[in-house]
Amino acid sequence: MKDWLRKHPDVRTIRVAAADLNGQARGKRIPARFAENVTKNGTRFPFSVLNLDIWGEDIDDSPLVFEQGDQDGVLKPTERGFMPMPWLEAPTALLPIWMFRENGTPYEGDPRHALRAVVEKFKERGLTPVVAMELEFFLIDDSGKTLQVPPSPRSGKRRKAAETLSIRALDAFDTFFTDLYDACEAMDIPADTTTSETGLGQFEVNLMHCDDALRAADDAWLFKMLVKGLARRHGFAASFMAKPYPEYSGSGLHTHFSLVDEDGKNVFDSGGPKGTATLKSAVAGCLNAMHDSTLIFAPHQNSYERLVPGKHAPTAICWGYENRTGAIRIPAGNPAARRIEHRVAGGDVNPYLMLAAILGAALDGITQAMEPPAPITGNAYAMEDLPQIPATWEGAIEALEKSTIVPRFIHPELIKNLIHTKRQELHYIGELSESERVELYLDTV
Ligand code: GLU
Ligand code: MG
Ligand code: MG
Repeated sequence: MKDWLRKHPDVRTIRVAAADLNGQARGKRIPARFAENVTKNGTRFPFSVLNLDIWGEDIDDSPLVFEQGDQDGVLKPTERGFMPMPWLEAPTALLPIWMFRENGTPYEGDPRHALRAVVEKFKERGLTPVVAMELEFFLIDDSGKTLQVPPSPRSGKRRKAAETLSIRALDAFDTFFTDLYDACEAMDIPADTTTSETGLGQFEVNLMHCDDALRAADDAWLFKMLVKGLARRHGFAASFMAKPYPEYSGSGLHTHFSLVDEDGKNVFDSGGPKGTATLKSAVAGCLNAMHDSTLIFAPHQNSYERLVPGKHAPTAICWGYENRTGAIRIPAGNPAARRIEHRVAGGDVNPYLMLAAILGAALDGITQAMEPPAPITGNAYAMEDLPQIPATWEGAIEALEKSTIVPRFIHPELIKNLIHTKRQELHYIGELSESERVELYLDTV
């Protein structure tokens, strides 16, 4: 880590940052000449910084924070090390960190540790998840109020027509995407394809698949930070809010995953289009936990406005081959690349928690050799007898609170903190007007 700074003598400042429960980066600014203090000894924050959302005003009387005196956790650098922050004017390096207890054990309430714990369970079974994420977002006007998208080739007027795979839309933002790809290379984020999405000013960037789930989640977390920072540098803004515009589709964060064994073989590959029994058990586990873990995939009030019929976002708990109307799609193509696409999460998700919930549920299905219901064919939005994803934030909070399934793969301490944080947000948001809520979510998620 010291080497990186030595090779980048222009970097005079570093940021240390960890993901809180909402995926927000929380950290400090430190002069590079004192960086060794952090790389050697770590830094410290109160536990409450990762646990509680700072939006809430009633933090001061939170029983949860004070239960244990709100002690400090020790934050140590992750394996990722230093990387540049290309969206800042002054050459600055980012050092991602995660939280441990004073005695050196991982802090179970840290989302990155939640994912690490799940990945370790796979390792015990000789399996490695291979993960790829697709991030959708809107580039937006920074005026805050009017929420107009930046000028489009059609004079900047909102249009009803879909912009899906529009080359004109890509061309209109070419300078931004050129800078974005340069920045991804500098930060070692494996950005692959970009496409224009359905909404005006809405895009999707796919990250290459990766056999290190922690790294894949890091990449998604860093990518969101980068896109938002770089958009600001270009004079506009970016939002991963799940449903910023009622008239357009929302922004999802889809996860594709397969599992490889110790010989490097994809255990979902049956040699044909349907996939193995292990694939089906993984699907069954994901479906079994979906209702209870919706809060993790759809963590904000606005997330539930995305999960409506007819917008390529799921409403029913079901799966199908090559079907984009349900929660889980099994893409066609080369059997060696047979995989599961989990389509529930919105762009506003915490990538660490999302991946822990997806992979944890899949492993739960595999260990119990669960069998899924029959795959659907046709339009899931029109099938009334399918089990449904909770339709409201309140419903999802309650479902997680009562769950006996999710604590099998996410630590109860983290679940307790998440429920508490969300109840606090719910209380706070209830006092805001609709436009104040949009403003609050737009740039923060
Ligand atoms: N934008 C859709 C969503 O909210 C997904 C569209 C797609 O299939 O890429 O999830
Ligand atoms: Mg898409
Ligand atoms: Mg997708």
